[in-house]
Amino acid sequence: MNNPPTILSFFAHPDDETFLAAGTMAYFQERGSKVVVCSATRGEEGEIQEGVPAERATLGEFREEELRNAMRAVGVDDVRFLGYRDSGMAGSETNEAPGAFVQVPAEDAGRAVADLFDDARPDIVIAFSHEGIYLHPDHIASHNAVVAAIELAAADSTRFRPSAVLWASAPREWFLEVWNVEGNMFSEMPFETIEQMGLPMAELTHAVDVSGYREQIDAAFRAHASQFGGGDPFEWMPEHLSTEFARYNFFQQASLPWNGKVELPGVFSPLS
Ligand SMILES: [Zn+2]
Repeated sequence: MNNPPTILSFFAHPDDETFLAAGTMAYFQERGSKVVVCSATRGEEGEIQEGVPAERATLGEFREEELRNAMRAVGVDDVRFLGYRDSGMAGSETNEAPGAFVQVPAEDAGRAVADLFDDARPDIVIAFSHEGIYLHPDHIASHNAVVAAIELAAADSTRFRPSAVLWASAPREWFLEVWNVEGNMFSEMPFETIEQMGLPMAELTHAVDVSGYREQIDAAFRAHASQFGGGDPFEWMPEHLSTEFARYNFFQQASLPWNGKVELPGVFSPLS
């Protein structure tokens, strides 16, 4: 693995990267790493918070600019898009729309991600874990695309092979606790969904303490104003939980077909 390592963060929508990896990216950027962020879609089906001058028809372009600004706040200027269309929440009509990310065969999306590996040559890839945090179909599709890209690279030695792939998630135990909070952001979802959110603490392998990057992370959240209205997305949480959610980025290291699980840079603290 190069030192400093090249980092690729690949997610489904603008804002996913800020929740799951903004502090980790800020850490590596500060140490001279090349950091690339790629979003599969432009988040066309996202919310539009009151007072934000965005319109449904052009929300994709608006959120592209928000992602670029958010990443500027953590020092990252290489922001890319695969150009798929946001599928919207599970079960919504937009799941069926032409070009919706969930309609793209995993092998096609996997080829696009393998091409991204070839071009960005990341030592460490960060992407959604299999449950996509809260089972959003695009989050799961983006995970599956990385799995397909790993299979392609394993079968073709001319493909670039990253040293490590880290599945980003958060402890399921915390989501179960959050569910009990009045006005929680998942209150409309059935409890069976909550029970599948995140990964059990025991399945997470590493955590990065990102508390030293609070200002940059908060600025990145503010840049995603169409989603959070410029406020703190954790403010409705009891303080002990919001502090924990804001303090760590959590990962599960994948075992890769070509090198298993290599040792990660020391900033990734092993759990257990
Ligand atoms: Zn998302």
